[in-house]
Amino acid sequence: MTEPGSCAASVHLRSVLEGVPAYTPGKPASAPAGVTAYKISSNENPYPPLPSVLETVREAAGEMNRYPDMAVTALTERLARHLDVPAERIATGPGSVGVLGQIVAATCENGDEVIFAWRSFEAYPILVQLSGARAVPVPLTATGRHDLAAMAAAITDTTRLILVCTPNNPTGPSVGHEELAAFIAAVPPTVTVVLDEAYLEFVTAADAPDCLALHRAHPNVVVLRTFSKAYGLAGLRVGYAVAHPPLAAALRKTAIPFGVNSLAQVAAIASLDAWDELRERVSALVAERARVVAALTAQGWELPDTQANFVYFPMGEQSGAFAAACQEAGLTVRPYGSDGVRATIAEPAANDALIAVCAAWRQTH
Ligand SMILES: *Cc1c(COP(=O)(O)O)cnc(C)c1O
Repeated sequence: MTEPGSCAASVHLRSVLEGVPAYTPGKPASAPAGVTAYKISSNENPYPPLPSVLETVREAAGEMNRYPDMAVTALTERLARHLDVPAERIATGPGSVGVLGQIVAATCENGDEVIFAWRSFEAYPILVQLSGARAVPVPLTATGRHDLAAMAAAITDTTRLILVCTPNNPTGPSVGHEELAAFIAAVPPTVTVVLDEAYLEFVTAADAPDCLALHRAHPNVVVLRTFSKAYGLAGLRVGYAVAHPPLAAALRKTAIPFGVNSLAQVAAIASLDAWDELRERVSALVAERARVVAALTAQGWELPDTQANFVYFPMGEQSGAFAAACQEAGLTVRPYGSDGVRATIAEPAANDALIAVCAAWRQTH
């Protein structure tokens, strides 16, 4: 007899799903026997939670039978103070990926166009295509930078949304403030521009954009930020947008009710309170990034300028083989087909292992 669950599915599914790629998460750590395993595939913060943040979460866990504050009131007010913007401009969500889903749902429908650089964050084409809108990927330059002129040239009457990832995941460069300001000035005011600053806290470039200033100056500019990377809360899922009131209100409408859980809400507040401590960790990671980049440059590697907590190897067809060599050394990295490989800057021992794999690779290739 056939089990009911094994019948071929006959329910109607939206045709757009056929073209939607599945999200490929960073693989978990694994290593050959006797080799220390490091997961450097998801740009996570390698440090464990701060004791003060963990204690706040432990306390809140005692009330997990209750729904969270749906309006995320305390965190929204804390963020408004932290950023010096009115609270009505803050919209939160389950990770900045969740908030981006809210932005797409608020701005796009069937047949609309969304422009983003490519290769960039892999959630972009997924969220755009799910909405029924058309993804318009614009190739990065040879040095892994956004080609803002080409992105401006791609704008049409049906463009509703433009995503700028600065610094760009997975290649690493941030866009320049002046070029971004000029780009935004050329975008029609009805088109929403999202500035995804997931790695903001790691940026040291002198010409890095002041995205909040661009938001203040332009009603169509939205800043997107997360607690997942520098703040080390990836597992709790909380991010936010800073948007002008009409769009911010729309983002609250398109949010999944109670999407930001109660532990995430208190952990984000505690992390903002503990920023001085967290900032030291971010500084340590930025120093490690400089050490890794200097070592790789001395080995002869020519890599895109990274402003984030990762380095990108544009290996082309050798990407798979290079990722396998890293895996042999206990380093689980993130390969992107035949484009390149991304490796997260983590604790010094993991970074040492990465430097060693890269040295060995250059001697044999
Ligand atoms: C990691 C990342 C995010 C953050 O995702 P969360 O949903 O907040 O964890 C957003 N944008 C980019 C480009 C990222 O790399």
